[in-house]
Amino acid sequence: MRAARNLGLDMRSRQLRRCGLCGNTSILTRSHVPPQTAGNDAGVSRMAIVEDGKRAFLGRRSDGGLWVRGLCGDCNNLGGRRYDTAYGDFAKALRPYGGAARHLLVERNSAPAVLFAPGLVSRAILHGMHALSPHLREKFPILADQLAADEEAVRLPPGLRLRVALTYGLTARVSGAVHAQRVLDLRETYYVFAEVFFPPLAWALCPPHHESILDRERWVDATDWVRYSRERTSVDLRNIASGVPIVQHPLHQNPDDWVYMFSDKITPLLEGRLPH
Ligand SMILES: [Zn+2]
Repeated sequence: MRAARNLGLDMRSRQLRRCGLCGNTSILTRSHVPPQTAGNDAGVSRMAIVEDGKRAFLGRRSDGGLWVRGLCGDCNNLGGRRYDTAYGDFAKALRPYGGAARHLLVERNSAPAVLFAPGLVSRAILHGMHALSPHLREKFPILADQLAADEEAVRLPPGLRLRVALTYGLTARVSGAVHAQRVLDLRETYYVFAEVFFPPLAWALCPPHHESILDRERWVDATDWVRYSRERTSVDLRNIASGVPIVQHPLHQNPDDWVYMFSDKITPLLEGRLPH
């Protein structure tokens, strides 16, 4: 029998690695994904997903939130200073819709009346995804350079979509590239370069893909949010999203329906438990 081992790439070690944004090699600093301002702090416990050769299960807990060493100090500070407050405000404003009020939202099939900063919020989550997934910089170097330089005109390259939805519950999960195929019931795919499920928000950075579960669930297309100027801090969510679905991670809804493929070389994977 094989010894139990962590599933996914270990992104918490202090070995020298390349920063997921600027590409410089150093001992990388801790990035919380999503930012601590969204509640990803001391009260959130992290659980490694462990495999013993036959099955995957959650390993022991440690407190301190979901974080990786994915960015150098300079890139980490840039994100923290400029975007994290806006991200925390957005998550806080949406939190009621991930709780008891979510049923109202589903019935009305509408977007919550929330004012926020789409440019700052999307940069915060893109920074976190680049911390999570070093593979992104290799695949889309221009985007990483634009984010690292904090350019006004950041654009997602053709073939890359940022999607967002609401989620609820006490389980969080963040990971790099995952490709999953539904093998029972419906025929559909879940294919992402990075994902952040941390109630009340779920984000996926993905290619436009045939038969995507994100399309069926009508995730909001937030690809262009990054084009909003940093000064636009009071945009009404209802004006840029006609409805925001409330979703759960495919693996958490019907785990037996899906076959997952990811690489221990490029995919970090963290699960967490939010405080009650
Ligand atoms: Zn850097």
